[in-house]
Amino acid sequence: MVSGEATNRAEIARRSGLARSTVGQQVDHLLDTGILEESESKRSVRGRPPRVLTISPQAGTVVVADIDTNASQIAIADLTRRILGTATLPVRIEAGPRAVLDTVAEGLRALLEHHGCDPVRVRQVVVGLPGPVDFEHGCAVQPTGMPGWDGYPVAEHLRRLFETSVIVDNDVNLMALGEAAQQRLDSPLLCVKISSGIGAGLVTADGGLYRGADGAAGDIGHIRAVGGGNTLCVCGNVGCVGALASHRAVLRGLGIPESTDEDPTFGARELARRIAEGEPTALHAVRQAATEIGEVVAMLIHMFNPRTVVLAGPLSELRDDLVSAVRAAVYQRALPLATRKLTITATRPQANSALHGGIALGAQGVFSPAGIGRLLAVGAT
Ligand SMILES: [Zn+2]
Repeated sequence: MVSGEATNRAEIARRSGLARSTVGQQVDHLLDTGILEESESKRSVRGRPPRVLTISPQAGTVVVADIDTNASQIAIADLTRRILGTATLPVRIEAGPRAVLDTVAEGLRALLEHHGCDPVRVRQVVVGLPGPVDFEHGCAVQPTGMPGWDGYPVAEHLRRLFETSVIVDNDVNLMALGEAAQQRLDSPLLCVKISSGIGAGLVTADGGLYRGADGAAGDIGHIRAVGGGNTLCVCGNVGCVGALASHRAVLRGLGIPESTDEDPTFGARELARRIAEGEPTALHAVRQAATEIGEVVAMLIHMFNPRTVVLAGPLSELRDDLVSAVRAAVYQRALPLATRKLTITATRPQANSALHGGIALGAQGVFSPAGIGRLLAVGAT
């Protein structure tokens, strides 16, 4: 229904393999509780017009928080994935999980109130974290630069506040989903986020996320870079690509502070300014970082054969300089079969792909068998 694939009872029965009577009972219940609406199709057909099922705008909301180092983005959407409102919360991740999650919950409640949405009808909470995430238990695992977050029960904290199901995922996974859904880019899609570290998310050919056995897939920042040398990484190893070519590493190399008290994105803006002015040291630093990233991306292309590679994060706002250097490294290294239909691009500034991906994942959760079970249990309270 939500994907537009099944819009009437017969179709749902056919696709789900459930008996028509079972589908009928559940649909009736969802109609009674105001989650679904049924109307006559406007399509002209002979005989009685078919009845079409749609999701009611009043059925509830999906709320999303993309938590990042210097600020968090939040969004609320209805169950048809339409965004109702967004906001940016200037809360630093180093404030610790309790402070950040309480700020996020407060911000979401304010957005819900502003848009006239009942907080009781929040059907799914989705959170993206900038570090390795144990998807099953809903917590970060030994993230760097996130004091207090290791093992902290993020899902449980928000479940208590919203009394609904909570999904916690890696932020790059959400970005990858958002890019695939919103920009209609072809999958398999590999999204590489270059920020305080470097991470990747992979959307498979059937539109799902590849998380690996433990949720650690895509933690590529600790792959050894070709020119890694003895650069010490926060993980304790030397030569990791994240320590050499992340946005943070480039800023550090140029002596630019990442943020100031007044401006959490000072570093990104200052680097963009120097690149726009053609400052040779800044251009050299970005191209060198892009070449190192390109070597790692070429290796991933050999492994996964994606149709699309999307570069994201603050460095991706320097689109031409970054993309062309990554492309050069990839085409030099990867084999023709893997690159002849490959698109390498950068995310659009202000694309908010992690929020869009979070909404897509949240809507999938609401209309999964478990989610439908929860809707049937609570009704539209
Ligand atoms: Zn490392």
